[in-house]
Amino acid sequence: MSSPKSPAINREQILWILKGMNVELSPDTKLGIDKLEHRLQKALGAAQRLSTVFSKTERDIKPTSYPFWNTQKPLAPVFRRTTWGKLFDVRNFDIMREMPHPKDAFDRILSHIQSLSEDWDREGHDFFALLKDPISKRALVIKVFSVHQVDAKTPLIFIGYDIVEGLEVADYSVYFKEFLGSGDSMVLSFVTRLEQDLFLELLSRNRRRISPDFRPHKMGLDKRCKLSFLVPITGLTQMDIAHLSKNSGCAVCGRNTASTCAACISVQYCGKECQRKDWTSHKHLCRSIASGKWYTVTLDRNPVAQIMHEVFGSNIPSSMPKWNINRFDSTTDEGLDGGDLMDASAPPNKYDEDEHFLVKIQVPIGSARKPRSMFIYDRQRSFEMHLLSEREPEAFEAALGAMGNNLKIYRWARRVGDFQWKICFDRAPERDPLW
Ligand SMILES: [Zn+2]
Ligand SMILES: [Zn+2]
Repeated sequence: MSSPKSPAINREQILWILKGMNVELSPDTKLGIDKLEHRLQKALGAAQRLSTVFSKTERDIKPTSYPFWNTQKPLAPVFRRTTWGKLFDVRNFDIMREMPHPKDAFDRILSHIQSLSEDWDREGHDFFALLKDPISKRALVIKVFSVHQVDAKTPLIFIGYDIVEGLEVADYSVYFKEFLGSGDSMVLSFVTRLEQDLFLELLSRNRRRISPDFRPHKMGLDKRCKLSFLVPITGLTQMDIAHLSKNSGCAVCGRNTASTCAACISVQYCGKECQRKDWTSHKHLCRSIASGKWYTVTLDRNPVAQIMHEVFGSNIPSSMPKWNINRFDSTTDEGLDGGDLMDASAPPNKYDEDEHFLVKIQVPIGSARKPRSMFIYDRQRSFEMHLLSEREPEAFEAALGAMGNNLKIYRWARRVGDFQWKICFDRAPERDPLW
């Protein structure tokens, strides 16, 4: 058994993984690999709410010092944390037929962790999980030792892990018996190599939080097995996304930024030299942003949900999602049990006042006659709002004109208030981003 290699996730893969977590850095970001790795680490920490669950950031966690998780209380529901956005966005893969996209690596890790919690409920005692790469035969072996209670809502799964290369599935039970004298049960899942690497990244991240004084006795795996833990993990909050998406560095060299294109304020540079270098490629975007006619519009909540709200009042069925699916905006998980639905608050804001971003504008599918509302959202769906002809007749006409015979267009926008955006309908982006 070889020791876990340091994760080998490359730059492009990190960008895809982050994108799958809704952390969208400019695709042309010149940030170096070390900075991107750091950002991925922060994202993995935030997705587990590590700084909320454990008060300090030091190496002070002793997994078995917490009381055992109440065995009467199933683990799976606590680990099955999701968000409204996710409920509409479930993708299943048959990995033997189709390779999942790197963008889905994080989501798939979430579901593997959820499966581990279900396995624990079923097994009721320690077991092995084998996360195997179907192509290279490399496997991530996880031994689940015990489950503890950090607080009433936070279980901690204490585990050991290692990477094993080159065995056939049938060989593993023999392998474990031989080397570990163990008759423990084993569950098998197929994962890609990237998913293994991302899982390793998460496990080694948590491992670094374990106290150096932690010396548990009686381990299922031998000393080559690394100790770590899992806590419930979910999507990032809107605040995390905003924080982690900011600062892509200089558009040319990735260094810290010091100046902004004064004409369009949409792109940042480390200084004049890089700005000059970038002008040939930036000028089209710059001119389209700087010269268009900008409408300031007030957008509306989902009209359907609003009607529901009026009909049901505060007795809205708990199965109704929020009017704007603010993805990942719950910092607790209260909303999933029925609270916090249909609230009237503004969408969370991830944009700076002077920041330009593309929105997608769609007319309802099947609107045979002249539509009366359009659906507007950004790439990460950090907000989803409606432009109503009744409220904004002039802007609505401009949007219809820009739409022509299309059902959707992309346009530049800026956020100026909780429900107010400035949108430029008469200048199309140089090329459609296709999301
Ligand atoms: Zn630069
Ligand atoms: Zn510019």
